[in-house]
Amino acid sequence: MVLSIKARRDEAGLSAGELLIDGRWRPAGDGNLWTHHHPATAEEVGTFAIAGVADVDAAVRSARAAFDDGPWPRARAKDRIRVLRRIADGIRGHAEELQTLVALDNGVPVSFGETYAMSVECVADIFEHHAGWVDKIGGETLPGYQGGDHMVFTLREPVGAVAAVIPWNGPLLLAAQKLAPALAAGCTVVLKPSEFATFSVLRLVRIIEEAGLPAGVLNVVTGPGETTGDALINHPLIDKITFTGSRGVGRKVLAAAANGIKRVSLELGGKSPSVVFPDADVYAAATTTMGTVTLGLSGQACVAHTRALVHRDVYDEFLAIVEAMAALVNYGDPFHPETTASPLINERQLDRVLGYIESGRAEGARLIVGGDRLDGELAAGNFVQPTVFADVSNDATIAREEIFGPVLAVIPFTDEDEAIRLANDTSYGLAATVWTADVRRAFRMTKALRAGTVGVNGYQLEPHVAFGGHGQSGLNREGGRSSIEAYTELKTVLIPTSDEMM
Ligand code: NAD
Repeated sequence: MVLSIKARRDEAGLSAGELLIDGRWRPAGDGNLWTHHHPATAEEVGTFAIAGVADVDAAVRSARAAFDDGPWPRARAKDRIRVLRRIADGIRGHAEELQTLVALDNGVPVSFGETYAMSVECVADIFEHHAGWVDKIGGETLPGYQGGDHMVFTLREPVGAVAAVIPWNGPLLLAAQKLAPALAAGCTVVLKPSEFATFSVLRLVRIIEEAGLPAGVLNVVTGPGETTGDALINHPLIDKITFTGSRGVGRKVLAAAANGIKRVSLELGGKSPSVVFPDADVYAAATTTMGTVTLGLSGQACVAHTRALVHRDVYDEFLAIVEAMAALVNYGDPFHPETTASPLINERQLDRVLGYIESGRAEGARLIVGGDRLDGELAAGNFVQPTVFADVSNDATIAREEIFGPVLAVIPFTDEDEAIRLANDTSYGLAATVWTADVRRAFRMTKALRAGTVGVNGYQLEPHVAFGGHGQSGLNREGGRSSIEAYTELKTVLIPTSDEMM
């Protein structure tokens, strides 16, 4: 039987997506629409508005006015807390519907929603966690450096009107990582979801709106990055750009921020290492590493551990386990509970991944398993076999570039110094995991590895701690206190309390 998502699509009853500008849902000014095709079947999912330059301008002006003159930045802490908590409750109340829409958007199987970081529960928790920050956003009081009667203190104030641009792979999670702290801090926002995952974000935004946000605090413009996104990041009335996506687009965001001297946060890609020592639980190391590259998002995750650095003593054992695991990956209907992995998001990404596999072969790596596109019942979708290359040089293209597909590069090492050198020899620095039973080695490695987050014998994302990258994996951090800092400006207040200090 040929795979089809039509029944689920019709059941979901998707209406043509509209833009949210100044509290009103409306079509794009020039009526342009984008048609989204499902990555597993190429069937039409639905259409949504392509926001043109004038629509983006209206959305930014709405966020600007809501920030400069509206009630949200000036709201009492208890009122902002209530709204954020209602958003969390609203998300929990629509968990199944949201998970369905994600699967219709990007083809990520609903079974992957059982992983906490990809669950709707995690999205709700992010809003709830940031609700707790609202009444704790404070500065510090310092003694006067020159002595005398002098008050010196700092205030943390919302940074302003924020442009938030997000990718398609974790649409709800990544929207929440930006909206929750921005709203908690008192900012106003124009959000642009990816053109490859729009419907779930539009539903999330309706839930947020229903929680009682004043008009203009949250605006949404949909459409492709090259037009809608470009107009947004370059708009002069934006105070801050927060971006999650590829390094290439990240450079454009940085250039736009430089041009307008805007505040900027970047969460970009990775080429994260999993470092396996001979005293490790090799089975756990191999299955977890291969899981990040093949299960759920099929390696289309920023934190996928796509470079396995494996000690020569356990190299063959590691390879045998990852090869066996490749055979267990189950592609198919994203709504079937036994489907464990997704297609690649679009044909461009399919071509890119197949191109990288070709470069792996051409540059002399040893193909252990996979390497081809899937055919038969899955031929209409963008499916690539789980692929493992062994004996990869860390200088090879497949060891240096983010492939964003189910491709693992396995690289042997001989001692700890070599492992550290190889792990850090990358232009990225998002995540790393060390596998060892030696606690002192674990501490040495966590200090030596240049990565935004380091796991020891496991890697589990948490919504309340700083997340971000070293090097070209990004700028600034998201999550918890670091998010609040990223959406606030510091103001220093100087108050001489006698004539002597004037
Ligand atoms: P992408 O960079 O192609 O697109 C991201 C967003 O930017 C989309 O909304 C897109 O429409 C928009 N965009 C594209 N061109 C633009 C332009 N010229 N101006 C303004 N906006 C533009 O990335 P993607 O394919 O959607 O996502 C995959 C990438 O995201 C990977 O590199 C992955 O590592 C990264 N990512 C990083 C994190 C993290 O937290 N570090 C999380 C998830 C994904």
